[in-house]
Amino acid sequence: MKFISTHHDAKPVDFKEALMHGLAPDGGLYIPEKFPPIDHHLLKNLAEASIFELGDKIMGNFLPEIPAHSLNAMIHHTLSFPIPLHPLEKDVFLLEVFHGPTLSFKDVGARFMSQALSYYLQQQNKQLIIMVATSGDTGSAIANAFHNTPNIHVYVLYPSKKITLLQEQQMTTLGNNIHALEVEGTFDDCQKLVKQALLDKDIRAHHDLTTANSINIARLLPQMIYHSWGICQLQRNHSLSDPVLVVPSGNLGNLTAAIYAKAIGFPIHHFLAATNVNSVFPRYVNSGKFTPEPSKQSLSNAMDVGNPSNFARVLAFYHNSHQKLTQAVKSISISDDETLTEIRRVYDTTGYIMDPHTAVGMAASKNARDGNPIIITATAHPAKFPEVIKKALGFDIELPERLAATLHKPKLSTKIPADFEGLKNILLRTAVSH
Ligand SMILES: *Cc1c(COP(=O)(O)O)cnc(C)c1O
Repeated sequence: MKFISTHHDAKPVDFKEALMHGLAPDGGLYIPEKFPPIDHHLLKNLAEASIFELGDKIMGNFLPEIPAHSLNAMIHHTLSFPIPLHPLEKDVFLLEVFHGPTLSFKDVGARFMSQALSYYLQQQNKQLIIMVATSGDTGSAIANAFHNTPNIHVYVLYPSKKITLLQEQQMTTLGNNIHALEVEGTFDDCQKLVKQALLDKDIRAHHDLTTANSINIARLLPQMIYHSWGICQLQRNHSLSDPVLVVPSGNLGNLTAAIYAKAIGFPIHHFLAATNVNSVFPRYVNSGKFTPEPSKQSLSNAMDVGNPSNFARVLAFYHNSHQKLTQAVKSISISDDETLTEIRRVYDTTGYIMDPHTAVGMAASKNARDGNPIIITATAHPAKFPEVIKKALGFDIELPERLAATLHKPKLSTKIPADFEGLKNILLRTAVSH
């Protein structure tokens, strides 16, 4: 199984190389060269499958070079929390992918990536430094996923005073191989520092370095597992099939994984990508024109994306055909006001408290009610967004115990100015060797 670049100007590589490098040398994103159909017997007996069987079969087809027992162990470790399908309204279901350690679906991709990297590093007895710039959620998912992973040191760069206390505590209280750097600057400064470090030849002479951003194919592939697990639970518990998948979207990674799940055989009627006010993708779907723009701030801030990085993958899947894409994918933009109204409506009618990202999907799903069952990916736990919940519902949401505990742990971070020399000194002092 090879992975090819969306720019078609780089040689096909195996999974290990796509994992290690993230981006193809021609600047494109790696995509699977083919979509191996899922085992016929498994599909026929979907209602009997466990999430681990789905994981073994799906990932085994894409990563045949990893021995089955090793892959099975990685999948068990990745999916060590429940991903229930919650029936909310008639024919409307929420796939809660937010019961992982940092309470967002990003835990799944981050945990699988850490497993895969340490699998290859252990074989080579190599050490690796991972750099991440974060405006909040990605950093905590990566930090948690790589905590205590042998052979790996993680440097998380976050902008001082520009993230929530909860987000900061989730990244800075882990210690050991997780190094939090509080940058006196903006998120853009953090990103610039990471890029500089990745290119610096003095640092490269001492360390192997990579980044763990969301374009890595190792974060995308395991996301097929929960989409198919949702369909499986729909059949088993509700005797329904062929759902519409509503996906709250920013960089379109979650949507891409859903499209891939259908490509390998899982029965999905169509897709609805729900965005907030950042409406580049719905505008493309509805007009055929793709015009990236600076991101706008919204209440569902993990989807504040003005130039969705996985757009190239979505387009490549449909052979650059707007017509083919729109036969399978619909898209709609939801405002902050609509998001708040939807959180309120759902709470008043069902008692369910929904995070703002999921609420964007829920509000959009009104346009998908055409007789098919609907599964909305619930991407984050509402307790991660107490300010929004308070604004919508007028009360404070209770923190899950795990989160409350992090709030009281000592913060372990190093403050650095937003210039490269400080970061360089820290990296050169790190006692990691090839
Ligand atoms: C990252 C994120 C999204 C957007 O997912 P993409 O794969 O970037 O489209 C949606 N909701 C939450 C809570 C997120 O953290």
